[in-house]
Amino acid sequence: MKEGRIIKALSGFYYVQSNSTVYACKGRGVFRNKNITPLVGDFVSFDITDEDEGYITKIHPRKNELKRPPIANVTQAIIVNAASNPSFSSLLLDRFLVLVESNRIKPIILITKKDLATLQDIEQIKRYIKNYERLGYQVTFISLETANKLDKIEKHFEDEVTVLIGQSGVGKSSLLNTINPSFKIETNEISTRLGRGKHTTRHVELLQVNNGLVADTPGFSSLDFNAIEAEDLSNYFIEMKALKVQCKFRRCFHHKEPQCAVKQAVETGEIKQYRYDHYLQFLQEILERKPRYSND
Ligand code: ZN
Repeated sequence: MKEGRIIKALSGFYYVQSNSTVYACKGRGVFRNKNITPLVGDFVSFDITDEDEGYITKIHPRKNELKRPPIANVTQAIIVNAASNPSFSSLLLDRFLVLVESNRIKPIILITKKDLATLQDIEQIKRYIKNYERLGYQVTFISLETANKLDKIEKHFEDEVTVLIGQSGVGKSSLLNTINPSFKIETNEISTRLGRGKHTTRHVELLQVNNGLVADTPGFSSLDFNAIEAEDLSNYFIEMKALKVQCKFRRCFHHKEPQCAVKQAVETGEIKQYRYDHYLQFLQEILERKPRYSND
């Protein structure tokens, strides 16, 4: 018996990497009975049936699991934002941060297309960057075209399983193709056009970058907060998480409650007003969500 990690799922085969060999494995029927499907990213035990073929016998416990795209054990998400075209949105960035934090994945913030931004845009973005860095996030501001700081990006992949996330057009595919031109990943614009109206099989693959793995498909294609409960939301705003223990009420929503440490911090400027505004907007969205009748 051997152990390895599934790096690709295609046509009923799971490609399991064990040391430097990749084995084409089938899943045993036992998984189907238990309603478990092996996922790309899973650590598995498998029996070898041929030189490079085998059967998966066991799926090891997952650290986390993304639904769309289906991928397990992601350790890091690089949130890609454009400085311009599409223009930078702190609201969207905060939405991604909440989704990533709630999945217990480490976020890294990357802002691209610096070369397309006006000086005014750049000044404003730099103020945001200062705030996110103060919160403890790593932020990198680059223009892919000149490939500046690219080595700094590559370093982030080491020993991690990374997904790139961000709205279309921010340069996720270009980033991967710039790091390794042999990936030849279709840019969003093209794949959207080809995929429209067709039932394309979702193919997920983990690619090797700098001693780490990166998914070739962007993570979090669904941006809703369906899996988040209202009382947990402030845990995913890291500056609020640290303060909420000081709120008078243990189940404080930091909205209308008295003696709320979060609201006090907004008043003193310790928590930025825009972050709190985004928090309230997301809270509203969660509270107004229709009751769910299934776990899906
Ligand atoms: Zn509070």
